[in-house]
Amino acid sequence: MSAERLCYLDNNATTRIAPEVFAAMEPFLREQWGNPSSSYRFGRAAHDAIEQARGAVGALIGAEAREVVFTSCGTEATNAAIHSALATQPGKRHVVTTRVEHSATLKYCQKLEKQGVEVTWLPVEPDGTLDLGELQTALRDDTAIVSVMLANNETGVLFPVDDIAAVCRAHGVLCHTDAVQTPGKIPLDVRALGVDFASFSAHKLYAPKGVGALYVRRGTRFEPLLVGGSQEAGRRGGTENVPYIAGFGRAAEQAAGGHLAAYQEVKQLRDRLETEILRRIPGTSLNGHRTERLPNTTNIAFDGVEAEGLLLMLDQVGICASGGSACTTGQVTPSHVLTAMGLSAARAKSSVRFSLGIYNTAADLDHALAHLPRIVQRLRDLAPRDEPVRRPAREEAAAAVP
Ligand code: PLP
Repeated sequence: MSAERLCYLDNNATTRIAPEVFAAMEPFLREQWGNPSSSYRFGRAAHDAIEQARGAVGALIGAEAREVVFTSCGTEATNAAIHSALATQPGKRHVVTTRVEHSATLKYCQKLEKQGVEVTWLPVEPDGTLDLGELQTALRDDTAIVSVMLANNETGVLFPVDDIAAVCRAHGVLCHTDAVQTPGKIPLDVRALGVDFASFSAHKLYAPKGVGALYVRRGTRFEPLLVGGSQEAGRRGGTENVPYIAGFGRAAEQAAGGHLAAYQEVKQLRDRLETEILRRIPGTSLNGHRTERLPNTTNIAFDGVEAEGLLLMLDQVGICASGGSACTTGQVTPSHVLTAMGLSAARAKSSVRFSLGIYNTAADLDHALAHLPRIVQRLRDLAPRDEPVRRPAREEAAAAVP
């Protein structure tokens, strides 16, 4: 990497651990290594740290402490919610979700389909938003749960989960939301949303990977996914990851204390990055709704460019972002989110997500904007092109003048 500069624009993938979070974890990795289930004082210290973190995570998301169940990750939280809805309602064998969910939901639902559960996959509009009418018609007497994300990790597009939860309530159907991408970024209140379950992950919130939480609304019947010990009030077996939970709690306190204000600044940086890319680089366009989305995310298609190559060249100058495709077993498959929005495979494969965070600065943007136009041009010069690169609107307008 030249210049040894890290320009990290992939905060939806993961975030840096905040120094305060690291400091909160350290005692539980060094001195306070007791088992939180032990009855002696040494164990109680670990137990108390977990309960403090539970209160902090609850406060951040608008829940009571006892409604928070710590898990190993956001994926586990989501699996556990859907599992519980089916296990507690054995007569109901139908699940409703969307085509643009994170693989935590997508793959779990695909696995359920193989086990005979029927899944309705709701489509999305070309701007990535959801049509509530589609949800209304999908609900049935045997629907166990509706699982929809609050914010899409690839485009940042927000779903109206409060309205969705209201529809579910009216039909007596449980509602889960994958809220992993939202804490700190947008105001969040699970009670006001009206959902029964919500999933969270610490590593999107400046805390470590490998710890998450599931909100379970008080009074909701629950059947654990992991059985073993009676940790987490019998809702999740397995000795708790005390240091990471302590870090999650500290991150939640930090987020509650000021992230929303910080994300206003992040939004300004995101808007500047987006505007400048669209203005300076011909043949670029935004994927997803312009306003109904997270303040930190922009997903842009670069016509005539393979995102894989673009990301490699960005990496050479220390810029981290991610693409609208996944490389599995040597084959590049276009993003299921972008294709569900109706993008062609080629356009999905030419799309790049930039996701900013509270540690990004104007200098990061200057760095990215200094390199992007040149790299895109280079790739276009190299690539055999069957379609002309779309010109920016201003040029088109100028060309149209007789
Ligand atoms: N849901 C969404 C929307 C995500 O973005 C992610 C992580 O990328 C997850 C779930 C999974 O979280 P975890 O990595 O903690 O399993």
